[in-house]
Amino acid sequence: MARYTGPSCRICRREGSKLFLKGKRCGTDKCSFNRRSYAPGQHGQRRTKISDYGLQLREKQKVKRIYGVLERQFRKYFHESARAKGVTGEILLQMLERRLDNVILRTGFAVSLPQARQIVRYGHVTVNGRKVDIPSFLVHKEDSIQIKCKDKLVKLIKDNLEITQERIKPSWMGIDAANLKAEIKNLPARDEVPFAVQEQLIVELYSK
Ligand code: SF4
Repeated sequence: MARYTGPSCRICRREGSKLFLKGKRCGTDKCSFNRRSYAPGQHGQRRTKISDYGLQLREKQKVKRIYGVLERQFRKYFHESARAKGVTGEILLQMLERRLDNVILRTGFAVSLPQARQIVRYGHVTVNGRKVDIPSFLVHKEDSIQIKCKDKLVKLIKDNLEITQERIKPSWMGIDAANLKAEIKNLPARDEVPFAVQEQLIVELYSK
């Protein structure tokens, strides 16, 4: 499976906001964005006027990077949400939030998306009692998600829960930290997306 393997902090600097891609480090003074909050590269500190197209493109790139999705898959999500009933941009964000790797991140069982994705890929997650090792799997209302793993990983996940306990946990799922379980109570609403995103810019970009 293709994925981005370059430096994560560079992405935050390119998108001009903290995207929390590195887990523990993101909340410390070592965060590169705190130290150099301008775009990477030789001309990163130049002031440039950005066109409407540029704004739309940057917003799309930012969302893709928050959820670790590549262009082809992201476009597929967009077309699916455009076909569905409702507001396209909101449905797009809802689909991205419903990805299993994102769900594991939101529960606090993982400190970063790459770690959440690894937990899923290694087959440590069950959905309704069945093993699911596909990070892009979309959860549904009333799904029950559980981590099933050996002691060493249980310790890591419990440590992660301590690190992430100050994060606001999503109200669309019930989390049972003691049993490493989560229940999808509702599908995520627009105001439960924990990032400032202007999804209408993405819709405008793909509607050209
Ligand atoms: Fe982004 Fe985290 Fe790197 Fe800071 S430490 S720049 S938030 S990935």
